[in-house]
Amino acid sequence: MVDEPESAVIIGGGLAGLAAEVGILAGGFKGKLTLLEKGPSLGGRTNSLDYRGRTLDLGQHMHVAGFDYYLTFLKEIGLEGKIQTEPKLNVEFRDDSGKVGKVKSSPLPPPFHLAPSFFGFPFISPGQKIKLIRPLLTGLLMDRKKDGADRSFGDWLRSKGASEESIEKLWNSILVPTLNAVADDVSLSMGMMIVERVLLDKEGGRLGRLNCSLSRIGKKAAEYIRYHGGRIKLNSRVQSVKIIEEGRHLVVLADGTTLETDVLLSAVPGHELSKILPEWTREHFSHPFWKLDWNSIINVHLFFKESVMSEEYFGYLNGSAGWVFNINRNGDDPGKHICLTISNPGSLEEIDPKELVDKVREDLSSPLPRIRQTSLEDSLVLYQPRATIRATPKSHDLRPPQNSPFPGFFLAGDWTDTGWPSTMESAVRSGYSAARLVLEYVLGNSPTEDSLT
Ligand SMILES: Cc1cc2nc3c(=O)[nH]c(=O)nc-3n(C[C@H](O)[C@H](O)[C@H](O)COP(=O)(O)OP(=O)(O)OC[C@H]3O[C@@H](n4cnc5c(N)ncnc54)[C@H](O)[C@@H]3O)c2cc1C
Repeated sequence: MVDEPESAVIIGGGLAGLAAEVGILAGGFKGKLTLLEKGPSLGGRTNSLDYRGRTLDLGQHMHVAGFDYYLTFLKEIGLEGKIQTEPKLNVEFRDDSGKVGKVKSSPLPPPFHLAPSFFGFPFISPGQKIKLIRPLLTGLLMDRKKDGADRSFGDWLRSKGASEESIEKLWNSILVPTLNAVADDVSLSMGMMIVERVLLDKEGGRLGRLNCSLSRIGKKAAEYIRYHGGRIKLNSRVQSVKIIEEGRHLVVLADGTTLETDVLLSAVPGHELSKILPEWTREHFSHPFWKLDWNSIINVHLFFKESVMSEEYFGYLNGSAGWVFNINRNGDDPGKHICLTISNPGSLEEIDPKELVDKVREDLSSPLPRIRQTSLEDSLVLYQPRATIRATPKSHDLRPPQNSPFPGFFLAGDWTDTGWPSTMESAVRSGYSAARLVLEYVLGNSPTEDSLT
């Protein structure tokens, strides 16, 4: 029995689902629009948790100024005042020998603004730097979509004479935090996208963060959605979806409730979607998204008795390499709570949490020597096994567009084809793109698969 007739249903309340609902409402949709989220709050991977009286973000979530759609979405839902973007790129890297390298934008015009930092970068030899220039120029001149999707960035760098040292010390320290993968696991086209969008784009490559907890995104989006007539149902896990007939869908929730709807928009990760869709639908998708490979991120939170860090963040290049963040730098007790974000953790995932805390504490006592003079009061290790998809060679063939082979059924999520790696920008882009398709479909003008990305 169908409990409630709906006009449109969105499954999943992460950035993609929220952006989709905001986009559909902003487009003047007049039907009954409901978002179903399995959890008790909105935000998905961009959310926070309560830990012993503190609010901890699920990952520190950096943006670059070139995240156009993500930043527009934040403004739309009223978070403009919370966006903090650096006036220029200025990132510090440290290793365990005490060397410090800066990647800092100079007054030179783009793309030369990083040239002084590049030549001063202490972790690779001058000879290696000279050898890196030619591959960069050829990479920028190639047609990324055509030539770069099937080959790994690492393989291509080697073919142009790059050494293992430069791949490890330079490229991996750029690619691991941005793409959550090393050069050998990244397609040439995605690697070059990072070079273009982050390193060579003086304006767009500026780093930033929200200066409030991530959980505010879901809360502010919910306010916007409810104010504009949309609905949200929390604690509503979708168990399965049935396509009753062309353009009619039945959504079955875990508590047995059913909803019938004309328009269905899935904004859950691909591995979840493949569980709720009927098996027979697979042969109709030209992009087998269930084969996408996902990678983890680990966040190690350390709470010290005394302050151990004064700067906001820096990249650490040895051992449990990653980004070290000074949480609450501008709040009470700055420098006492630090967090190491370990992207692409590999074998570190296998280590027992207590052992990992000891290792991180030991590793970081070299760049942050005050760690040796104080005691650790508490720690927390957060493992997120499916943090992002891997932008491997050929992964493009697995990422579907936001429309599907089934009329009235649309897809969103950072893993769909947006031309961007699996990021907040990709999630919001996919949501807005799916919203546009829904509006076109409702108005009787449905575009084809090819007309999208
Ligand atoms: C630790 C970490 C650090 C990160 N750092 C960065 C960063 O610095 N910069 C950056 O740009 N990106 C970063 N990312 C990636 C970014 O968080 C994601 O790309 C983005 O949030 C994905 O949004 P989404 O809406 O596509 O998916 P999700 O956020 O996964 O949302 C999917 C939603 O669907 C819900 N759902 C799933 N199954 C069902 C079901 N059956 N029924 C109902 N609801 C369901 C889930 O509960 C969830 O709320 C990071 C990710 C992690 C994990």
